[in-house]
Amino acid sequence: MSMNRRDFMKAAGAVTAMGLFGAPHLALGGGNKKVVIVGGGTGGATAAKYLKMADERIQVTLIEPNAQYYTCYMSNEVLSGERSLESIKHGYAGLKNRGVQIVQAAAEVIDPVAKVVRAGGKDYPFDRCIVAPGIDLLYERIEGYSEAAAAQIPHAWKAGEQTKILRSQLEAMKDGGIVVIAPPPNPFRCPPGPYERASQIAMYLQAHKPKSKVLILDAKQKFSKQGLFIQGWKRLYGYGTDNSLIEWQPGPDAAVVRVDVGTKTVETDFGDEIQADVLNLIPPQRAGKIAQVSDLTDESGWCPVDKKTFESTKHPGIHVIGDACIATKMPKSGYAANSQAKVAAAAVAALLKGAEPGTPAYVNTCYSIVGKDYGISVAAVYRLSEDGKLIAPVKGAGGLTPMDAPDWALAREVQYAHSWYNNIVADIFG
Ligand SMILES: Cc1cc2nc3c(=O)[nH]c(=O)nc-3n(C[C@H](O)[C@H](O)[C@H](O)COP(=O)(O)OP(=O)(O)OC[C@H]3O[C@@H](n4cnc5c(N)ncnc54)[C@H](O)[C@@H]3O)c2cc1C
Repeated sequence: MSMNRRDFMKAAGAVTAMGLFGAPHLALGGGNKKVVIVGGGTGGATAAKYLKMADERIQVTLIEPNAQYYTCYMSNEVLSGERSLESIKHGYAGLKNRGVQIVQAAAEVIDPVAKVVRAGGKDYPFDRCIVAPGIDLLYERIEGYSEAAAAQIPHAWKAGEQTKILRSQLEAMKDGGIVVIAPPPNPFRCPPGPYERASQIAMYLQAHKPKSKVLILDAKQKFSKQGLFIQGWKRLYGYGTDNSLIEWQPGPDAAVVRVDVGTKTVETDFGDEIQADVLNLIPPQRAGKIAQVSDLTDESGWCPVDKKTFESTKHPGIHVIGDACIATKMPKSGYAANSQAKVAAAAVAALLKGAEPGTPAYVNTCYSIVGKDYGISVAAVYRLSEDGKLIAPVKGAGGLTPMDAPDWALAREVQYAHSWYNNIVADIFG
């Protein structure tokens, strides 16, 4: 195959970008090959861009119902009034400029035999398909809750309209009100997310409604970065005292099992009844609906994949990335979805030209902003385990913010968090 200078420069750029994430295979020769991507969120949009970077001749079609994407990351800052909803909104102009065909529709089903995705009454044929639909919320697991009720009792676990509703309820709440947050059982999108949310809301209450309180009724007995969160809550919000702005009650007793939507009263597994002024129920989760109807999930509700290529172990030719897939031991995070998308894009580009996919590496960092100038994080680099069954953290390559970190280090974590955000959205949509 001949390669002109322009192709070479592009290829070199792609190698650098992918090399950073340990996906060394550069695939050329994808001419006329079709890849259909379902879901234009963090995983799907990243995969579209990186496929085009690997080989611009691959015909990439991205199917996504919404014209704009609101990132869940940094949406907790919208709740506290630290940033606008507008600042977490992103469009698809960048991907269009790269030659990605954007279809604004919801995929109805993926046919693994005919190799077509049906969306908006049309069929989109593919040689390979990448599926990144995020999560489906299991409202019915909380008696009395439903998708319709989410207009009054927001989950805000998909950003956008839901974030707006929760923010306006917090603004309308009287001083002295109780904000109840009910985090779901594992596994779920963004393990530290509910606790960052509690922190951000406490920060808002402290400044504007100091007699109020955040009550976390958890389905779990422990949570991500727990020691660091609690240390932050003690320092900033009086955690553990009578005047604490945050109270955390562990599962299984505190798990919310029933809700009365009209009065915003919840019943816990233990039988306690609590009336909230603002109620944020985050229901249990599974892979996005399209993965269910296309038979990509197993009995867990999530999609089993070959962890080297993210190809479905149920239907060859279809790759599943992001929150929807089982990527043990990576968490369900935006950064993980972004990293998996790069691995999958490199694998798909290689497979389309009949080459062997390279050996991947994966990365994740989750920042949580606990208060003003107070950030914490967890970071890890991962490699495929020898038996290929696990995406295993590399020892010594990562870690947590140390306990008792000095103020300057905690303030720096907030700056890192914001700069991470700017970089990742540029990486995905730019
Ligand atoms: C409050 C909160 C805070 C968070 N903070 C962080 C953080 O600080 N760092 C971090 O890394 N992660 C964070 N996350 C997690 C992160 O948002 C998710 O892990 C990430 O968005 C997963 O990406 P995804 O591509 O799998 O799904 P998504 O980004 O949700 O994208 C799925 C897309 O698929 C589309 N879709 C669904 N069904 C169909 C269909 N049938 N046809 C076509 N398209 C479809 C949807 O419209 C959506 O655009 C946070 C999450 C929450 C809720």
